[in-house]
Amino acid sequence: MIHLKNGSEIAKMGLAGKIIAKTMREVSGAMVAGKSSLKDLDAHAERIILAEGGIPSFKGYKGFPAAACIAVNEGVVHGIPTDYVVQEGDIVTLDFGVIWQGWHADSAWTFGVGEIGENARRLMNVTKESLYQGIGKARVGNRVGDISHAVQGYVERNGYSIVRDLVGHGIGQNLHEEPSVPNFGKPKKGPVLRAGTTICIEPMVNEGSHRVMTLDDDWTVVTQDGKLSAHFEHTVAVTSDGPLILTMDE
Ligand code: MG
Ligand code: MG
Repeated sequence: MIHLKNGSEIAKMGLAGKIIAKTMREVSGAMVAGKSSLKDLDAHAERIILAEGGIPSFKGYKGFPAAACIAVNEGVVHGIPTDYVVQEGDIVTLDFGVIWQGWHADSAWTFGVGEIGENARRLMNVTKESLYQGIGKARVGNRVGDISHAVQGYVERNGYSIVRDLVGHGIGQNLHEEPSVPNFGKPKKGPVLRAGTTICIEPMVNEGSHRVMTLDDDWTVVTQDGKLSAHFEHTVAVTSDGPLILTMDE
């Protein structure tokens, strides 16, 4: 069942989203090649979230041990922060969830560390744009498949592949709710989007094959072929005035 949210509930999710946006800006800005470990970045994120009055959604979720999921280069999602120190040329995905007064928001962004390769920059740009193509379809009366199809089409036209094994999701008083929001699919299929539907749209885009695998830590998902992956995610409310992004800075 899809739980529709009223205006005040969406506003609370937006406050959770603002905490995420601030955390994203500050943690990405503090990332220094040769200095910052993934554990440092996670600790920094947790400090900001708590100082803003939020609770990290991910910590303890099904036993996840950290406030942030951090994925480097071939990392796709659900990366457990390690002692790895980021290096010039890495691409690093920061993925944060925050609870504010019982309401969740969730967002991810891939950042380059220092100078990155042209292929990495293009992959990031295509992934980010595919997110916005999907958000553009998050309109009353459309169906989830319209979002899925827009994301997939944009990614594949640009020569990359969409991860199939992991998908976006509804969000609200739970981090993950119905509906599932796949990044691949057919237009005019799937649940109808109504005013008050709140979803995370989160394309995970691979440079090579769409295939992924989970490491021995049972969490960190990486590309099977070891090629790069990027991930951009916003929490979005479907409203009668169009899609409202809840995880933006302003
Ligand atoms: Mg998510
Ligand atoms: Mg996320």
